[in-house]
Amino acid sequence: MTATEIRQAFLDFFVSKGHTIVPSAPIVIKNDPTLMFTNAGMNQFKDIFLGEAPAKAPRVADTQRCLRVSGKHNDLEEVGIDTYHHTMFEMLGNWSFGDYFKKEAIAWSWELLTEVYKLPKDRLYVTYFEGDEKEGLEKDTETYDLWKQYVDEAHILPGNKKDNFWEMGETGPCGPCSEVHFDSRPDNERAEVSGATLVNADHDQVIEIWNDVFMQFNRLKGGALQPLPAKHVDTGMGFERLVRVLQGKSSNYDTDVFQPMIQFIAEKSGKTYNSAAKPGDADWSSAVAMRVLADHIRAISFAIADGQLPASNKAGYVIRRILRRAVRYSYQTLGFKEPFFNQLVPLLAEQFKGVFDNLYSQKDFVQKVILEEEVSFLRTLEQGIKYFDDYYEKTFVRTGKTSDGNEIQLLFPGEMAFKLYDTYGFPIDLTQLMARERDTLINMETFEAALQEQKSRSRAASIIDTQDWVVLKDDETSTFTGYDETETIAHVVKYRKVTAKGKEQYQIVLDKTPFYAESGGQVGDKGELVFPDGTIILVTDTKKENGLTVHFVDNLPEDIEDALTAIVDPALRSQTNSNHSATHLLHAAMKQVLGSHVNQKGSLVNSDYLRFDFSHFAKVTDEELAQIEAIVNQKVRQNIPLKEERSVLYAEAITSGVTALFGEKYGEYVRVITFEEEFSKELCGGTHVQATGQIGYFKIISESAVAAGVRRIEAITGVAAEVYITNQSNLVNQLKDLLKNPKDLPKSVESLLEENSKLKKEIEKSILEKSSGLKNELAQKAEAIGGLNFIAQKVALPNAEAVKNLAYQLKDIVPNLYLVLAADFDGKPSLTVMIAENLVKEKGLHAGNIIKELAKEIKGGGGGQPFFATAGGSDASGLDNALVKAKSFIA
Ligand code: ATP
Ligand code: MG
Repeated sequence: MTATEIRQAFLDFFVSKGHTIVPSAPIVIKNDPTLMFTNAGMNQFKDIFLGEAPAKAPRVADTQRCLRVSGKHNDLEEVGIDTYHHTMFEMLGNWSFGDYFKKEAIAWSWELLTEVYKLPKDRLYVTYFEGDEKEGLEKDTETYDLWKQYVDEAHILPGNKKDNFWEMGETGPCGPCSEVHFDSRPDNERAEVSGATLVNADHDQVIEIWNDVFMQFNRLKGGALQPLPAKHVDTGMGFERLVRVLQGKSSNYDTDVFQPMIQFIAEKSGKTYNSAAKPGDADWSSAVAMRVLADHIRAISFAIADGQLPASNKAGYVIRRILRRAVRYSYQTLGFKEPFFNQLVPLLAEQFKGVFDNLYSQKDFVQKVILEEEVSFLRTLEQGIKYFDDYYEKTFVRTGKTSDGNEIQLLFPGEMAFKLYDTYGFPIDLTQLMARERDTLINMETFEAALQEQKSRSRAASIIDTQDWVVLKDDETSTFTGYDETETIAHVVKYRKVTAKGKEQYQIVLDKTPFYAESGGQVGDKGELVFPDGTIILVTDTKKENGLTVHFVDNLPEDIEDALTAIVDPALRSQTNSNHSATHLLHAAMKQVLGSHVNQKGSLVNSDYLRFDFSHFAKVTDEELAQIEAIVNQKVRQNIPLKEERSVLYAEAITSGVTALFGEKYGEYVRVITFEEEFSKELCGGTHVQATGQIGYFKIISESAVAAGVRRIEAITGVAAEVYITNQSNLVNQLKDLLKNPKDLPKSVESLLEENSKLKKEIEKSILEKSSGLKNELAQKAEAIGGLNFIAQKVALPNAEAVKNLAYQLKDIVPNLYLVLAADFDGKPSLTVMIAENLVKEKGLHAGNIIKELAKEIKGGGGGQPFFATAGGSDASGLDNALVKAKSFIA
């Protein structure tokens, strides 16, 4: 079976068991503070498990793109070294939301593996949870008994909390689980050592392929387990591992999922891929490198396609780190000195066509982003590697002795790792990897210390402490009323205290709310909660957390259980509406003017302005901007009424040609916002004007670049646009006034500038003439003292350049010169000392030393060479004294 057939067989099987197939959620997570990337198929159903959202269907199945590179599930270190952990992988899964439970889940797992896929039963092992006393969890005998119907008892193994109690993250849904493992060793090895002893023992030929999780609890912040409202099934099977066992391979990379990519890399690098290479073999490091490249390109491409660009912090930095890790292997181990990694994108996009189309439709953009990153990292990579190697070979001492004489391995200094991080952009895990390749560890304590020192912001200030919810009303999901009204009578469902930057705040969830929670670029609403006793609680922000709308407030009312009126600030909301609708018009106009490749890459809509980031490879010209603006304003004047459809089947919406955004997670039903059927039709959850006329006027105020292939437009609407235009026109009027109302304003400014530069040149010329004129006059005043010609004079010259010029001219005509010139440049005193070169040697005079003394008279300082030095000061009244003092150095 090919990989494609294997994936399809899984989906078909669960359709035959009454499941609905759903699309994969994006790999990048937006509305969950506990998670950056999707790490399991169940993530997109978290709020269903927690009872915060209803299930759309009781049984679903899918293939979900996952990323395990941060947080609780982080496999990055294994990737490339082993043959069955990837950064990005597909997780095949089937779910029951309060529908079937262990019995069916186990029966179907077995049926699919042994009857559809026909895996040999004697190579399969299953596990069940042995219980945990500390957590108060019992042994899962039910699962054991269920498996016993199908599986030989010697192949049913107990497992501890680490392996058989699955948790999404530090908090969130969790429960006991039951895994299926596959033993792919040759028969002779199997006869010698029982596979049962190798399950969950990190053996690369006895690997876990499937995990059936029985979701029953929510792990709370303090560590307590809270039973979920219902019991669910959540299973996850690693697609690449399944393909490997079905294709009879001993490495995931030997399957048709990875071979085309591996062969492409091998061919371009001129090396052969040896799947069987072992550590220590000559071709081990290139085998690892090829696996790393073939793996990492998937993680990076899908993250970018889902909207996460490489960046210097948070999720963006995780992506940049992985990218740099791959580029290092490509450069150092495979010998690609020019950008190569990005060239893997087209092949990958082709491979996932029809599975995850979001990559194919953006492949040029994704490749361009990676190329740009590669180019910039390659610039310092070579130097960084050299720095590391030099230090390692010349300075680093590998071993030392403790006070009692024992030899110990020394750590690679953290300060050096920090230098690599700070100066050469080496993520710490890259340096750790390079050190590990030399059997050395990095001193992370000193690295952290150096890092912390750099971060001037105190760490404590950024820690956010979130307490558990205090629940007032059970099983309530909050309804959003804000599309229809800005005032709603509601009750508090739950609240919690949050401490951030030393400041206490509360977060409140209501059963009904008109407050729009920040999403899709639109900021959260502000407003107030009015209680019957007259207490008014200000809502400073509104955010989404999973399915819930969370209101941020600074304090709580005395009686929080009372009915309250939730009121959104109407003025702010109405300006935000204008900016949001204008964003849709802008997007549509840009597709008309620039082309259909323009895709939204980010957006911000608040009451002040709108910001729109989009994929486009060139600067948008002034003419194009004017065209875009004109189209939008035409649509504004046409006063097109809003057409809002709240619940359209996603599939229907897409066929009707709506604009959907990459990296957004859409449900089965979507909301469609239309301004003129043929013009702008977008999937959107935001709030809008009733008709485009309310926007009033649209004005672009800037166009700039934000990243490789991404540009940004900022614009304003309504009153803000009116004020902007009024200010601009006032400015022009002021200029006209100043220039006495010329007929042609730009031309008159131009001639003014021309005249100005001509005058400047003339002045410079006349100053030089003046200083030359002074030359003869001063030469006359030279006083002969002990073989020197001494001149100390105040001169009326306007700048240092002119004084210097005079000094040099005097040196040419007066032999044995000791010259001190004083000048006052508009209240700024200055001194200049010039000494003939022969005197410097013969008399030991030093202009730099003399000027230091003289400068004291004008309350200033200066310095220079032995024959020429200058000083500036703050007290012009001391200039005369300085001239008198000058003589003391020779008299
Ligand atoms: P392992 O112990 O092998 O790391 P796991 O216990 O972390 O696996 P689960 O969290 O139960 O795995 O995920 C469900 C399934 O997803 C696993 O049975 C496996 O087939 C697959 N899987 C997990 N991590 C990876 C990975 N990094 N790369 C590829 N497949 C994976
Ligand atoms: Mg794991």
